[in-house]
Amino acid sequence: MNLSSDKLALDGGTPAAANLQFPAWPPVSDDAERDLVEIYRSRNWSFGGAHELAFAQEFADAHDADFGVFMVNGTVTLQCALALHGVGPGDEVIIPALTWPATAMAVIYLGATPVFVDVRPDTICLDEAAVEAAITPRTRAIIPVHLYGSMADLDAMKAIAERHDLALIEDCAHAHGGKWNGKGLGSIGAVGSFSFQQSKTMAAGEGGICLTSDESFAEKLYRMKHIGYGPAVRQGAAASGPPEGMPVYNFRATEFQAAILRHQLRELDALIDRYNANAARLEAMLQDVPGVRVQSRGRCSTRQSYYCLLFLFDEEPMKDIPLSLIQQALSAEGLTMLWPTYGVVYKHLLWNVPSANYRIAGDCRVAEDVGMAHGIAMVHYFLGMSEADIDALGNAIIKVARNADALRARTASSVE
Ligand SMILES: *Cc1c(COP(=O)(O)O)cnc(C)c1O
Repeated sequence: MNLSSDKLALDGGTPAAANLQFPAWPPVSDDAERDLVEIYRSRNWSFGGAHELAFAQEFADAHDADFGVFMVNGTVTLQCALALHGVGPGDEVIIPALTWPATAMAVIYLGATPVFVDVRPDTICLDEAAVEAAITPRTRAIIPVHLYGSMADLDAMKAIAERHDLALIEDCAHAHGGKWNGKGLGSIGAVGSFSFQQSKTMAAGEGGICLTSDESFAEKLYRMKHIGYGPAVRQGAAASGPPEGMPVYNFRATEFQAAILRHQLRELDALIDRYNANAARLEAMLQDVPGVRVQSRGRCSTRQSYYCLLFLFDEEPMKDIPLSLIQQALSAEGLTMLWPTYGVVYKHLLWNVPSANYRIAGDCRVAEDVGMAHGIAMVHYFLGMSEADIDALGNAIIKVARNADALRARTASSVE
C-alpha cells in the first residue's frame, strides 16, 4: 500500500481504520460480582473493612512500598501527602504545568501556592533544570507527575529534594504498576499517590491510595482520612486520638471499591504487558515517519505503565498544522478516540484560581507547546486492541502525517 498517495478520509478518501474494536472499560468479572454481592449482604461496607485493609497491603506490596492507605480519590491523597509534611499558607509546591488540575487543586486546598514548572520535551514530565530554577525559600515540596506513558526522572527529583530539604511526593495517578529501575513507582518519594477514578488504569469508579514506607507517615495518613482514628480501628473503639493540630478528614472509601480493585490488581501485570507490547508496536511503526513521535518512556523505566499513549505532532511537516485539524483528520480515518492533552493547568477551562494564588515559573514553553498545540492522547484501554487494529491505527496516523500538504492546503484556504 502506498500510503502517501492515499487520499485523506477528510477529503473523501477511504478511512484507514474504519472498524476498530474498542475494548470496554472498566473491566467486569463474575468473580468481582460475587464479592460485591457478598459485601452487600454482609452489611460491612466501610470503616477499616477486610477488603480495604487487604487491598491497601496488596497494592503496597505490588509497588514495593511497606504501607498503603486507601482513600476516596486521588486528589485528597495528594492533599494528605502535603498536609503530612505541614504544607500550608505561605508555602510553595512545585508541580508540572501540564497535568490534570487535581495536582494543583490539592495544593490550593491547603492554602499553599502551586508553582507551575515546565516539562521536558522527551518525557513530557518535570524538567529538573526548571525545577531547580523555580525553588525559593518558601518551597516545601515537589510533586512530579508520571504523565500518560512516561515517568518523571526520579533520580534527579530525589537529588533536588534532598539538596533543598523538600518533600518528594509522586503523583502516580497515571502510573499503576510502573517500575523505575526495578522499583515500584510510588515507593521512591516520601509518599506516592494513586487514583482509581473510572478512567484510570485501575478503576473503581472513585478511589485513591497513598503509599509510603515510613510507618509514622502511614499512621498519620490513616488518621487523616479516618477523622482521627488509627489504622484498622472499628467504629467507637479508638484507643488514642490524633496528634494535636493535625488536620483530620473523612476521606474513607468503601469495601465495594476495595473488592473491585483487588480483582484488577491480580490482572494488572498482564494488562500492562499487553499495553507495552502494543505501544512498542506503534512506536516501531511511527519511528521513521516525519512529523509524528510518541512520548519517550521514563529514562530508567524498567516497566512502563500507561494511562494514555501520547502522540506528538511537533516536527516537520506537521509542526504548523493546527491541532484541531489533525484531530479532525484522524477522526475521519476512524480514530475517534484520540483527544488533545489536558493543556496547561493555568489555561484549563476548569481552572478558576485567582492569579495571586499561584505562580508560573519561567515560560513553560514545552508544556504550552505540547499541551496547547502538538499533543494528542489515546486513553490506555485502546492499547488493549488486537494487533491488527493497532496496525490499522498506526497506518491511519502515518497516512495523516504523509498528507501534511493536503492538511496545510486546507488551513491556507480557510484563512482566505
Ligand atoms: C486523575 C488524576 C488525579 C486525581 O485523581 P481523582 O481520583 O480523579 O481525584 C491526580 N493527578 C492526576 C495527574 C490525575 O490524572
